[in-house]
Amino acid sequence: MTKYPDTQLFIGGEWRDAISGRSIPVIDPATEETIGTVAHAGVEDLDLALEAVSEGFKIWSAAGAFQRSQLMRKAASLLRERADAIAAVMTAEQGKPLAQAKAEVLGGADTIDWFAEEARRTYGQVIPARMPRVTQMTIKVPVGPVAAFSPWNFPINQVVRKLSAALATGCSIIVKGPEETPASPAALIQCFIDAGIPEGVVNLVYGTPAEISEYLIPHPVIRKISFTGSTAVGKQLASLAGLHMKRVTMELGGHAPVLVFDDADIDSAISLMSAHKYRNAGQVCVSPTRFLVQDAVADRFVDGFVEASKALKVGNGADEGVEMGPLANERRIPMMEELIQDAVDRGSKLKTGGRRIGNKGYFFEPTVITDVPIEARGMNEEPFGPIAFINRFDSPESAIAEANRLPYGLAAYAFTGSSATMQSLRSEVQSGMLSINHLGIALPELPFGGIQDSGYGTEGGSEATESYLDTRLVTQKD
Ligand code: NAD
Repeated sequence: MTKYPDTQLFIGGEWRDAISGRSIPVIDPATEETIGTVAHAGVEDLDLALEAVSEGFKIWSAAGAFQRSQLMRKAASLLRERADAIAAVMTAEQGKPLAQAKAEVLGGADTIDWFAEEARRTYGQVIPARMPRVTQMTIKVPVGPVAAFSPWNFPINQVVRKLSAALATGCSIIVKGPEETPASPAALIQCFIDAGIPEGVVNLVYGTPAEISEYLIPHPVIRKISFTGSTAVGKQLASLAGLHMKRVTMELGGHAPVLVFDDADIDSAISLMSAHKYRNAGQVCVSPTRFLVQDAVADRFVDGFVEASKALKVGNGADEGVEMGPLANERRIPMMEELIQDAVDRGSKLKTGGRRIGNKGYFFEPTVITDVPIEARGMNEEPFGPIAFINRFDSPESAIAEANRLPYGLAAYAFTGSSATMQSLRSEVQSGMLSINHLGIALPELPFGGIQDSGYGTEGGSEATESYLDTRLVTQKD
């Protein structure tokens, strides 16, 4: 691999250091070595970014939808061409296996392409009038400059969803990227620069997240906020945005239930859900976390899941054949240990895993815990790590009640052979996304978002562009 790059801020069409010269070290979670730095923006840098994004909005909102679409497609092609190099950078800073990193980069290119198509479909309406000679129409106009806050678990995917929706609709954007994983999102932005994005339309900053959000959200230049991260932070940012009447998309935490009924294809449920559980070391907002398995098949499911967990190859994501890398940062380790200890103290059974692996790199064992009381912390707090909590159920009603017990409502999964059960799951499970008998979420053309404490708005599908657009009515009599 070529040397891991240091990351600068991108403001007003220029890569530059912070005015203060401040930077933050970037650590490889597999080796704990410092591999580079990222520039730390201060208020003076943010002021420049605000000036730039305001100018950028004038240019980009006036560019035709066709031109925007063409530029986006060019950026997508560049991203595809550079996928191997960018994936290596992502693995070094985030820890995930190379194949997962490359899939994320390529998925990012698909997302750009999909939104590039949507860019040409921001239709208004002509509404039949009550009076002769009156024409009533709605037109869709970009809401204005966007401030987007994206986390470290999917360094490209979390940025590209916000960036593509904003650019497709004619908005300019300041992205506050993830400080722990800064270089791969910077490489994504470079694709847009090389595709010819005009100055100021896209800006990228890093720094202290709370300082940046507190400055950007109330600022009059910013008209729309998009945030992905924890529910606690999301609520703070949504409150601040509400105070200043800004449009908001919030993609927050989840605690996804998996309902496995006794008429399901159990082998398929085990293989799909164990792979999904440990993807990105469980640091995924839609990661399956609360497994609910019907009595008759519970032992078989647990045995199979434990076997799959033990067989998983954990190691440096850059090494051939590794299926799960380290946790992305050191603070996840005590969090895993606390959740496991708490569950065990309350009488749960630790079936496999439960400990950190070695003392160099943030590796953690794939962990399966069964018979977990619902009071256990792990049954209530988002684990965001490689822990599967598995409980049994007897009646479908009790399983659905447990699935809906938490205030989260992001993803849910179910496995059943019965159409009647599928029907009741569709109407009764409270989640933004429900995938039955397969893994079918997170494609660019599908809505991606939660309800209740998991946030609001969607980052995929045709509705994703709506939240970057204002609908204006024009009614005229000729
Ligand atoms: P955290 O809550 O400190 O940070 C989560 C993300 O929010 C980070 O990207 C961080 O930079 C950002 N953030 C934090 N405070 C902010 C603020 N005041 N203004 C703007 N951005 C802010 O937690 P963490 O230790 O980094 O991650 C752990 C928890 O975060 C997890 O338990 C999970 O719930 C959540 N998380 C969710 C996602 C997701 O995809 N929904 C991604 C990453 C983290």
